[in-house]
Amino acid sequence: MSSGKSASIHNYGHGGAGITLSWGSSALAVRETLGMEHREAAVIGSGVMGLTSARLLQDAGWKVTIYTRDMARHTTSNVAGGEWGPYSAHDPDVSSNAFKSQLQFAAKISHHAFTNLGGPDYGIHWTELYTLSDQPFSDSDDQFADLYPYKKDLSPDEHPFPSRYVRSVLTMMVEPATFLRRLTESFLQAGGKFVIRTFDDKTELLSLAEPVIFNCTGLGAGKLFGDEEITPAKGQLVFMPPDPAVDYLTIGGGNSNLYMFSRSDVLLLGGTFKIGDYTTHAEPAETARIVAEHQRIFSGFD
Ligand SMILES: Cc1cc2nc3c(=O)[nH]c(=O)nc-3n(C[C@H](O)[C@H](O)[C@H](O)COP(=O)(O)OP(=O)(O)OC[C@H]3O[C@@H](n4cnc5c(N)ncnc54)[C@H](O)[C@@H]3O)c2cc1C
Repeated sequence: MSSGKSASIHNYGHGGAGITLSWGSSALAVRETLGMEHREAAVIGSGVMGLTSARLLQDAGWKVTIYTRDMARHTTSNVAGGEWGPYSAHDPDVSSNAFKSQLQFAAKISHHAFTNLGGPDYGIHWTELYTLSDQPFSDSDDQFADLYPYKKDLSPDEHPFPSRYVRSVLTMMVEPATFLRRLTESFLQAGGKFVIRTFDDKTELLSLAEPVIFNCTGLGAGKLFGDEEITPAKGQLVFMPPDPAVDYLTIGGGNSNLYMFSRSDVLLLGGTFKIGDYTTHAEPAETARIVAEHQRIFSGFD
């Protein structure tokens, strides 16, 4: 983590769970400053990781400037689905035990933080999530089970879904646009400053005046720090007008990566999870698949 600066602290690479893990991962990043005498930091990036890192630093008495190519509403964070779920951040088959326990720690911190911020101000509410499957659920290796206290497996006469196995849990929904806007406001209220700037390489970044740098550039980190391990996972969503009558979320029920998230600003259908795909355009065939699979799931509903 150290360089010619006092420190460069990296906080990127959260897969499909960056919103979920934001407070916890940023708390781990800020913990790296323990023992430092500096109180001035540059945070690079204004997505959920940059903003939560910046807010935690400010709370600890640091003066923070966020340098960013894009303001929050133009980031990946702003288009996230927003379901609170720490599952798709890593591949459990290859991650080390040390990584898993760090992830568990981050998930717990984050869960606690989001719970405390619940309500319309930060765009966070509790909601029922139904997981639909044709295979029985296995709990044996679920390291996050204690973060889902209200869990119930439903028998076929208790649900209307065309899936053999249905599990209901209570989780949180984070509305990214509201959450990011609120973080931006509180960052400014606490004296933070934004500088719009694109860094083309690491040298440029390390020439900043601030002694401590938090690298929260998401996918941009690959180019900036030459990290060849960071890999994109392309997600495609279908946005529809909000439907207040739908007060729950679903995951699964079809061939791959299906989810329906009902939010106050939008009802969204997902999705895709294409590892290694850097493109950002919507693919009409995927849109058709996502819609058709959800039509099948919900066709028996009134
Ligand atoms: C379709 C989809 C659905 C998702 N659903 C969920 C979900 O339901 N729940 C969940 O928890 N997560 C979800 N995610 C994952 C989540 O969106 C990401 O993990 C998270 O947004 C990453 O945040 P970040 O701050 O690291 O990166 P970003 O939001 O990408 O922000 C990066 C920042 O760095 C800046 N930057 C980059 N390069 C440079 C540079 N060279 N110079 C200056 N600035 C730079 C950018 O301008 C930006 O401000 C989803 C993602 C997608 C795509």
